[in-house]
Amino acid sequence: MIQIEHIGIAVKDLQAAEDVYTRLLGVAPYKREAVESEGVTTSFFRSGPNKIELLESTRPDGPIARSIAKRGEGIHHIAFAVADIRREMARLKSEGFTLLNEEPKPGADNKLVCFIHPKDANGVLVELCQERPAEP
Ligand code: ZN
Repeated sequence: MIQIEHIGIAVKDLQAAEDVYTRLLGVAPYKREAVESEGVTTSFFRSGPNKIELLESTRPDGPIARSIAKRGEGIHHIAFAVADIRREMARLKSEGFTLLNEEPKPGADNKLVCFIHPKDANGVLVELCQERPAEP
């Protein structure tokens, strides 16, 4: 693990949450991006060296909608930057962690991502993310 890449926050209303976080952080989001495969629209903020990702569900049965139904809005996951996602996935698997996807998948903000089951990390959903190589 290199560092925390971002903290993901599940929100009901992305526009309203963007307004709140713009006032909170004193900066506007730098990017809004839909990840259709995950059923989310994301919005990214920078705060110094750190990033905050707001996530709104695009469908009533999506993972973010289910999380909000269960636990309400709030911190949804912590993402760690990794240099080699496949190597890190293999290491965590050998350490007994449950990977929620067996293959790295495309995530927001030009990343390859993998999620670790929260039951293996004291209730925290952990995301691994590796910067995707630039398209030629
Ligand atoms: Zn994330």
